[in-house]
Amino acid sequence: MDLIQENKPHVVCIPVPLQGHINPMLKLAKILHSKGFLITFINTEFNHQRLLKSQGVDALDGIPSFRFETIPDGLPPPENTNATQDIPSLAMSLVETSLGPFKSVVAKVSGLCAPVTCIVADVLMGFTIEAAEELGIPEILLWTSCAGSLVCYNLYQDLLEKKLMPPKDQSYLDTVVDCIPTMPGIRLKDFPPFIGIINSSDDYMIQFLCAQVERAKRASAIIFNTFDELERDILDSFASKYPPCYGVGPLHLLEKNIVEKSLASIKSNLWKEESECLKWLDSQPPLSVIYVNFGSIVVMTPEKIIEFCWGLAKSKCSFLWIIRPNLVVGDSAMLPPEFVTETSDRGMMVGWCPQEEVLNHPSIGGFLTHSGWNSTLESISSGVPMICWPFFADQQTNCWWSCNKWGVGMEIDHDVKRDEVSKLVIELMEGEKGEVIRKNASELKNKVEEACTSHLGSSMANLEKVIQLMHKPSK
Ligand code: UDP
Repeated sequence: MDLIQENKPHVVCIPVPLQGHINPMLKLAKILHSKGFLITFINTEFNHQRLLKSQGVDALDGIPSFRFETIPDGLPPPENTNATQDIPSLAMSLVETSLGPFKSVVAKVSGLCAPVTCIVADVLMGFTIEAAEELGIPEILLWTSCAGSLVCYNLYQDLLEKKLMPPKDQSYLDTVVDCIPTMPGIRLKDFPPFIGIINSSDDYMIQFLCAQVERAKRASAIIFNTFDELERDILDSFASKYPPCYGVGPLHLLEKNIVEKSLASIKSNLWKEESECLKWLDSQPPLSVIYVNFGSIVVMTPEKIIEFCWGLAKSKCSFLWIIRPNLVVGDSAMLPPEFVTETSDRGMMVGWCPQEEVLNHPSIGGFLTHSGWNSTLESISSGVPMICWPFFADQQTNCWWSCNKWGVGMEIDHDVKRDEVSKLVIELMEGEKGEVIRKNASELKNKVEEACTSHLGSSMANLEKVIQLMHKPSK
């Protein structure tokens, strides 16, 4: 064993095994490595195989102080190995099966490398707290969504007691929930639909989420992929309920400013990146392209994708559209051939792209997004205005922030129709409202940069506070 490494503090990082959670956790792990920590990063076996396939074995295996380990997810092998797993099944299986394998990995790497001195886990991987408590080491939790969505999960019991839950009918969804001083005007429909509209698999997810959120109270600190200038009031409001809470985001900007180049090859794409779309963007005029991407989980019906197709066609705008292999229910990702022909001179479609680079490309003028939190932060950080089509989970709350509070987006109805798509795309790219939203996005971009660039920036300063806690023995 290398003596120098033996003396370094050793952090085990474990994300929820989904793309939108792995990305921020990997960035955080790289940041901590650059701050002098040894890192063990734990993936599920299934995801690790996907990472190796999409990036090549060498990409994840060259740095002794940044190691990868795996645990099983407890699920039978899926039929489609290039798709996001069923989320309720995954959540259930992790809760039931993961603590033992996790503890074994912690023991193994403590012997192999250096004793583990801190666990950094996703809030939704709450079982890991048992391991930290047994070892008497600090556990820092990462909440990968906006702080506002944690407020919503916290209110679930209250809403039940007030009989706002479950909503009696659709009209209830417009009810303003007036008991959150930090989120005035928020409606029931802006809550994560796990909470707002219950069906049977959501029922398990609500219990799961509430249990994890409750468990988070036992951690040494909770860090959020957000920043004080966006959600400071909310983070402050957690003081009486939770351990210290810190905004250290957006982590992708902190990563850019802190992480050493030697870690650049370590990436977290579960799908193979098709970066030729960047060349196509190079050939487009500034601010002329609408970028369309619905993230890693959304699966839509063929009817909906057809509406998006003809809406984009009708707008006459150039577009870059990311059509993930399993974006459409069943095996029906075929787009109408007439649409492909009609838009061939101004449309580019690929299966997965380097999104951060795309959003920073000068030709991108707008983002039609599902309002995943990472996508929202990446868009804000690039000053790109959004059209928001939230699908589920925290996306409704993220959309509410973007459209109603920060003025950087326009919402599209869930029951999407082609005329509305084309109208909003034209408005965003060429209209007066689009102009205002673009200006707001650009102002927000400046604030994000301030939070992450200088040593006085709020996220930079908060990161240092968290690092201090990581060195302290647990309570
Ligand atoms: N992403 C990417 N290329 C794509 C689609 C998505 O790199 O073609 C990344 C994106 O940059 C973001 C993450 O995948 O970091 C998606 O997370 P988000 O929270 O936006 O949505 P989710 O996939 O969790 O619904």
